[in-house]
Amino acid sequence: MQRQEAVEDIVVVGAGLAGLATALGLHRKGVRSPVLESSPALRTAGFGFTAWKNAFRALDALGLGVGDKIREQHLQAQASGPNEIRCVRRDSLLQALEEELPRGTIRYSSRIVSIEDGGGVRILHLADGSTLRSKVKIALQNDTIAGASKLNTEQDALCCTCRIGCDGINFVVARWLGLAEPSYSGRMAARGLAHFPDGHGLEPKFLQFIGRGFRSGMRPCNQTDVYWFFTWTPSENDKGVIESGAKLKQVVLANLTALKVPPKELAVIQRSKTSEVFTVPLRFRSPLSLLTASISKGSVCVAGDALHPMTPDLGQGGCAALEDSVVLARCLGEGARGGTESRRIEARLREYAGIRRWRSVELVATAYVVGFIQQSNNDIVGFLRDKLGGLKSLNGGYTGAGTMPAFSTRISRGWAFLGRPRPEL
Ligand SMILES: Cc1cc2nc3c(=O)[nH]c(=O)nc-3n(C[C@H](O)[C@H](O)[C@H](O)COP(=O)(O)OP(=O)(O)OC[C@H]3O[C@@H](n4cnc5c(N)ncnc54)[C@H](O)[C@@H]3O)c2cc1C
Repeated sequence: MQRQEAVEDIVVVGAGLAGLATALGLHRKGVRSPVLESSPALRTAGFGFTAWKNAFRALDALGLGVGDKIREQHLQAQASGPNEIRCVRRDSLLQALEEELPRGTIRYSSRIVSIEDGGGVRILHLADGSTLRSKVKIALQNDTIAGASKLNTEQDALCCTCRIGCDGINFVVARWLGLAEPSYSGRMAARGLAHFPDGHGLEPKFLQFIGRGFRSGMRPCNQTDVYWFFTWTPSENDKGVIESGAKLKQVVLANLTALKVPPKELAVIQRSKTSEVFTVPLRFRSPLSLLTASISKGSVCVAGDALHPMTPDLGQGGCAALEDSVVLARCLGEGARGGTESRRIEARLREYAGIRRWRSVELVATAYVVGFIQQSNNDIVGFLRDKLGGLKSLNGGYTGAGTMPAFSTRISRGWAFLGRPRPEL
């Protein structure tokens, strides 16, 4: 079998929100960038996410009508004032991004397992045994081909000048850059999607229920689908609960029933298929470590969760990933156009890192603090949260019925929009 050798300027690792949006931004800039994805298909675990106005601004900046397509498919949350907030189905957004990319951009079942620094040559090892390699200092594509050393095995090889790690919290690229491993927050999250073929009949409001030591929310995505989540601090005895969708649903229902959440809302949890309830530990990267971290090193950088894994308490992880993508595509698009020159690309990546560093720090830190306050079962913290935060009481339980609680909404809104220039490609 003859070894094939592909030459690429930019390779994106991970076909999540960050990876696909970055590839689309680069495509808009006329730069080709294959996306290596470990899964055999788009990964839509998590079902939905709250997309704030900054996410839509980023999608609009990417252009090609993706933002409007997502708007058409999803309900605008009521009581969001002048701010656009929608609960977006992940599969809808990922598919919309994929559709705008040139055919074959995403290379499925391509899992990067490690990156090796081989004396001026970066070698990416894939799980199937194949190897992708690139030289750090490459002036021209022709030089790349000439300089690529021979592989011993008969495998495909890909030479590239720039590698973008959008591999989420699995952090192969982040680890190579030496970023701190994400820390476990001590909290877990369960997520599900309830499908009502005849319509769910709920108003397009974002409901949030805060009880002792847990927080739960429900968000209609469209007329038929409702996304829900439940975050809590597990005890030693919760192992069985975490591993079983059925038990988890029981726990969620028991907690919400104790808060006297109305039956119409409880039906959302009951409706979700147990096989489709996902539980994840909530992790974040220390904001302090991000202050000095190598967000880019040479021709390699990270974006999205690979850069700033955060607890979901601001609903900003995915929105920030889209922001990253626009900034990265802008920086790299300008650096890569007209033939790649490694030093120029490295400078562009440093510029990107500089722009996104503080944004990442503030979001990760704020999300952690907001999560601590919202989920706290400490009497004093709870009192201050409920009184100062303006939470409404629902039959003795606390809920932000009608809208998200003023507390988290105000903070999320602030971080989503304040002082942020509109992202532009
Ligand atoms: C409970 C919960 C609720 C959330 N709610 C919100 C919300 O309301 N609003 C919001 O904005 N954000 C929210 N988030 C955060 C949001 O989900 C993430 O920030 C976002 O999905 C990050 O996108 P990403 O592309 O960086 O990573 P991912 O979506 O994780 O994508 C990474 C991709 O890389 C692939 N990959 C991984 N490793 C490799 C490898 N080695 N080689 C090749 N491919 C690889 C994966 O298969 C995946 O497709 C929430 C998160 C959680 C956990």
